[in-house]
Amino acid sequence: MHSESKSPLGEFDLIQRFFKTGADAMGSNHAQTIALGIGDDCALIKPVAGEEIAITSDMLVAGRHFFADTDPEQIARKALAVNLSDLAAMGATPLGFTLSIALPKIDSAWLEAFSKGLFQVAQQYSCALIGGDTTAGPLTISITAFGSIPTGKAIRRSGARPGDDVWVSGTVGDARLTLAALRHEIDLSIGDLKQVESRMHQPSPRIELGTKLRELASAALDVSDGLLGDLKHILGQSQVDAEIYLKDLPKSATLQKQSIHIQNQFAACGGDDYEICFTAATEQRDTILQLSKTLNLPLTLIGKILPKENTEAKIHVIGSNGKLLNPEEAASLIKSFDHFAP
Ligand code: ADP
Ligand code: MG
Repeated sequence: MHSESKSPLGEFDLIQRFFKTGADAMGSNHAQTIALGIGDDCALIKPVAGEEIAITSDMLVAGRHFFADTDPEQIARKALAVNLSDLAAMGATPLGFTLSIALPKIDSAWLEAFSKGLFQVAQQYSCALIGGDTTAGPLTISITAFGSIPTGKAIRRSGARPGDDVWVSGTVGDARLTLAALRHEIDLSIGDLKQVESRMHQPSPRIELGTKLRELASAALDVSDGLLGDLKHILGQSQVDAEIYLKDLPKSATLQKQSIHIQNQFAACGGDDYEICFTAATEQRDTILQLSKTLNLPLTLIGKILPKENTEAKIHVIGSNGKLLNPEEAASLIKSFDHFAP
């Protein structure tokens, strides 16, 4: 922290009280790998033989990624969860994370709640806080998470092959539905909002799924910006096209109460779901459906990878009537979404 931000609670005390104590209390399932945590100039990670370290970083800025007056517990949970979701998408097991935080002022009640939410998620996924930086400034939270993967087993975006199935975990569109309700773009009953709002505020990183997919998936990513848009990243890196069946997109009962147009838009293009979209060879179908039962998590076949036709990756969207959406219909699906977009 810069010296001009001196307050009764100094930087050292702040780190100790809100971050180091929680980190110490958590202990570590990865004591062998995390050789040194908070307190020195660096943390030390000692990779296990035969494993690679996966690293991912996400920054959340108040006013841009969340409202400054959002419940601090929620901010913390989401900030860590979105990083864990990136680890999940590669098939990594979480090891630890660093937290760099800029605070406009030192507010003990805020920090108390923030650290509570942070350690809840850290504990749940056995991901220890191992260091960070604390400074004065506009509220910004930057987390870097580290995970481990057996060498060569990371699930990359570049592995999809023509003929592979396209799958998605859980349901899609509820985070977008929540945002639409909070912005008064649509009317949602309080009961319905309660059903879906945690999907926006508390994403569930699909860590266990990710580790299982190491042996099954040819490519994967987590859906943060919207299913179709994110799928294009797989297509681009794998040099393939895809067809997607709108009627098969997995939607919650609450989303299914909306008009078919809203359902399709939110499921296909709504962001913030943090589900895993992955591709796999058709021979894996039974194993994947079995995995879905074991994990008690829907895994839904939503499309197929096709050979590449042109320079730019293309998604052929098949409408609810089984017919290919014409370019105007496809554009309208995206455009209507853009109308709602931040
Ligand atoms: P330095 O000045 O050497 O960068 P700092 O005084 O910033 O060290 O931090 C002291 C220790 O506290 C370091 O181990 C650092 O990783 C840790 N630390 C600082 N801020 C945080 C934070 N927000 N969360 C967790 N650890 C932190
Ligand atoms: Mg520092």
